[in-house]
Amino acid sequence: MRRLTTGEQQQLRDLLAKLVSIDSVNRNLEEANRDRAEERIAAFVAEHMRSLGMAVEVREFQPGRPNLIGHWPDQGDAGAGSLMISAHMDTVTVEGMTVEPFEVAFRDGRAYGRGACDTKGSLATFLTALAIARREDALPAERVYFVATVSEETGCQGATALMQTGFRTDAAIVGEPTCCQVVASHKGPLWLTVETRGKPCHASYPELGVNAIDMMARVVQFVHGPWQERIRRTRHPLLGTSTMSVTIIEGGSKVNIIPAVCRAQIDGRFVPGEATDVVVADFSRMLAEHLGSADGFAIVRQETYPPLNCPPDRPICCKLLDLCRQASGQTAPLGVNYFADTGPFDQAGIDAVLFGPGDIAQAHTADEFVDLDQLDRATEILLTLLTDHAGRPIL
Ligand SMILES: [Zn+2]
Repeated sequence: MRRLTTGEQQQLRDLLAKLVSIDSVNRNLEEANRDRAEERIAAFVAEHMRSLGMAVEVREFQPGRPNLIGHWPDQGDAGAGSLMISAHMDTVTVEGMTVEPFEVAFRDGRAYGRGACDTKGSLATFLTALAIARREDALPAERVYFVATVSEETGCQGATALMQTGFRTDAAIVGEPTCCQVVASHKGPLWLTVETRGKPCHASYPELGVNAIDMMARVVQFVHGPWQERIRRTRHPLLGTSTMSVTIIEGGSKVNIIPAVCRAQIDGRFVPGEATDVVVADFSRMLAEHLGSADGFAIVRQETYPPLNCPPDRPICCKLLDLCRQASGQTAPLGVNYFADTGPFDQAGIDAVLFGPGDIAQAHTADEFVDLDQLDRATEILLTLLTDHAGRPIL
């Protein structure tokens, strides 16, 4: 395994500190489109890429919200394919943080700050490994692209838009805090709203009305009961089974009125291989059977996001895993329940894996941090992957 010198470690920490110092909060789509908080970090990252000699292409997802694609024009052989190394530039909100969000504190072997873990640690890691490999003229035969995305935290809209522009590579390593392990699959969310409609009346004569909350109670019973059997039918080797939970419920208007309407929101996390259309059709049909009628309720599909399912025998997965085995003893690729930019990349036919420094347990937290050991190790693993294949194909 290639080890970083003290100077290279410092270079890595300096870059992380700079990235964290730039506010790139993406709290929700509306505010992010209005405030363009990612514009400043994108300007810095683009400039940094140019300072490494890369040509940088800017593809805006929304005005002031650019995805960046960089590569060295003299690097890579078109016949050898292409590899994307990517991480997102946005972070979640800094509300409620107990550490300084935009000024990195290095203490106890950690770097504290918003995004240090998710996922500016990966940005710093990837850019540093690429810079060193380029300086040593030890990049692989494939054309290597560095891609920095916006709007991951609100549902991977940046990566989705990038795929819609037609950008493709053969494989991708996407940064997320995976504790320097290879993640080859994740679930895809499906968010539904169910609305039940009753017949309101004075609550002193409840027998004259139909209670929408009462009906919703049976919907909840269905979701957490018979429906679980249906979604557990499909089992994924790394992810186990899909899950579905009622997470928000609201109904009724006044204490003395039998409620006319009740709404519930349902979070589904589906394993690869479960087609969303089929799931929603089954849900609708089985719910009608459970309630004894198809009337009185409506299902609205809110959001769906694609899962990740990279076959473990793909070169990007095997070769990265081989190095992770040497570094930390990882013996097989992992599956995770959260989703990331890998979803849209996988859907577009790219062999994608997640890999990066830090633990997802520290992402989005009030005292977010990344272990400096993780930062160094991730950089060494990626650098070794690149330089071990100097002039030769990885894929
Ligand atoms: Zn992330």
